[in-house]
Amino acid sequence: MSVRILNISKTYGRQKALDDVTVEIGEGEIVGLLGPNGAGKSTLMKITTGYLAADAGHVEVCGYDIDTEPVRARSLIGYLPEHNPLYPDMYVREYLTMVAHLYKINAPEAVAEIIERTGLTPESHKKIASLSKGYRQRVGIAQALIGNPKVVILDEPTTGLDPNQIDEIRALIREIGRDKTVILSTHLMQEVNAICDRVIIIDKGHILADGKAAAIADKVGGGMAVEVLFDKDIDVISAEKQLNATITPIGEHEYRVESSQSEDLRAKTFNYAVTNNLVILSLLRTDNNIESIFHKLTRGL
Ligand code: ADP
Repeated sequence: MSVRILNISKTYGRQKALDDVTVEIGEGEIVGLLGPNGAGKSTLMKITTGYLAADAGHVEVCGYDIDTEPVRARSLIGYLPEHNPLYPDMYVREYLTMVAHLYKINAPEAVAEIIERTGLTPESHKKIASLSKGYRQRVGIAQALIGNPKVVILDEPTTGLDPNQIDEIRALIREIGRDKTVILSTHLMQEVNAICDRVIIIDKGHILADGKAAAIADKVGGGMAVEVLFDKDIDVISAEKQLNATITPIGEHEYRVESSQSEDLRAKTFNYAVTNNLVILSLLRTDNNIESIFHKLTRGL
């Protein structure tokens, strides 16, 4: 096992951030921690990296306990914190060389290799303050790679980037995942689909689901949002029976139609609407929508 997070609990004052969380991650996995703001993702990452102490439980990194062997354990982890703290007045290469010195690495070629790998070569002589947000994020990822860690932990690595930068950073993370274990946090289902082998859904300090993204989507079942022309046109009870689905109003003329099975309900709903003379204004599949997944998972499936 690359990372073992065992029975971790953490309370800030009266706010319980993590409640008996256990996760085991194998070597080479790319795992996405998916959850809304306040779910406990950052807290879990800070505890895993040894930046924050848990109230209960323990963490092992490649067999080393983060509390009893912190130096060994932490030397195996690279960490990009949520707000990517950098020194804006330093030059890229200068900053990364300083980080390397902190790791007692005195090899310019090691820094050069990381600059190359993270696509920073053209920007390496610039000041950090003058870089775009995407390049600053690359610098944050580069500093996480110094010391050649076995496990890389990235807290919300694409938040605040534009779509092109997001694609580039995701490609870089996939590339890093070829020879390292990667744990990243996100509140976007599509991010998990784009990068991760495995997704752990977390909310209010509890793990709600853990597995392959496609398997979780299957388990959660099909769902969609339908907008009909007139509110009174939809006889919910008969529609529910005929479609074998649950229908809940989500807007003035809008309903959520959900199936307990993994089923695409669009064709069935369309045919139902035609037979009952309902006018459909829009029909959108929502299985991959995090809100609908949370909605279902928190209702206990
Ligand atoms: P996420 O990363 O999923 O957004 P966090 O781990 O940051 O979640 O937060 C989990 C919960 O703990 C939230 O309710 C948050 O308000 C609370 N929390 C986080 N850090 C602190 C802190 N330093 N002091 C008090 N409460 C905190």
